[in-house]
Amino acid sequence: MSVYECLSCRGVYQDPQPDGSSYYHRCPPLSTDPRGGAVERPDMRDETLVFGNEGEASRLKAPGRGRAPYVPPPPPAPEVPRTFLSRVCDFVLRRKAGSEEVSNGESSQAQ
Ligand SMILES: [Zn+2]
Repeated sequence: MSVYECLSCRGVYQDPQPDGSSYYHRCPPLSTDPRGGAVERPDMRDETLVFGNEGEASRLKAPGRGRAPYVPPPPPAPEVPRTFLSRVCDFVLRRKAGSEEVSNGESSQAQ
């Protein structure tokens, strides 16, 4: 089982399908015309096979921009509670300023 991304419409699909059958991707239309016709994208991919004459190889009806193995996006970075981040920043800033004292958010500068 391979997962692909259509480079025309960015649709993601499996080929072959989990049941073993082949999948022939076709980009969905951009919109449906209110008069009944579909507005197709100019770079539409249609993997329907067109068979040539005897001895000729079959080809895709419309190759579009092609397809590529699907690479899922990386998971979002875990969210660090802001209060924890603020404390870490305060600590780092105090160390940079030369003060080793870590207080509860109060300034450690002598007045
Ligand atoms: Zn597509």
